[in-house]
Amino acid sequence: MLSSCFEKDCIFCKIIQGEIKSFKIFEDEYVYSFMDINPIAPGHALVIPKFHAQDIIETPSEWIGKSFAAAGCIARAIQKSISPEGISIVQANGPGAKQSIFHLHVHVIPRSIGDELTMNWELTAGNVEEIRKLADCISANVV
Ligand code: ZN
Repeated sequence: MLSSCFEKDCIFCKIIQGEIKSFKIFEDEYVYSFMDINPIAPGHALVIPKFHAQDIIETPSEWIGKSFAAAGCIARAIQKSISPEGISIVQANGPGAKQSIFHLHVHVIPRSIGDELTMNWELTAGNVEEIRKLADCISANVV
């Protein structure tokens, strides 16, 4: 049995605890998944463990495992929902990797042939209504 742990000043911990709104896709006792509001592609989702640690260096292996297992579930739901030509799983650690929120998170990013996405990207706000619709669609396909 894993015990959750939250940090009061962390945006992702606040999202998990419902103190900040998010477009939730999935939640269980270990992980929380929601839409990235600065998507680099339509359907860009995040998975975070219910354990606050800044990165993969600091996060216990059990929580890393839960997070990546859930990323697999979300990837399958994205595939079923919007049939992208590919899906990238990206997990950034530290400033050199452009990590922006210091609570471990796994990006699940729908890809298209020729989209030329790179591993580091600038944050640009997405269309909230489009993100909400995709969240509804993807969450309906999580099994
Ligand atoms: Zn946190």
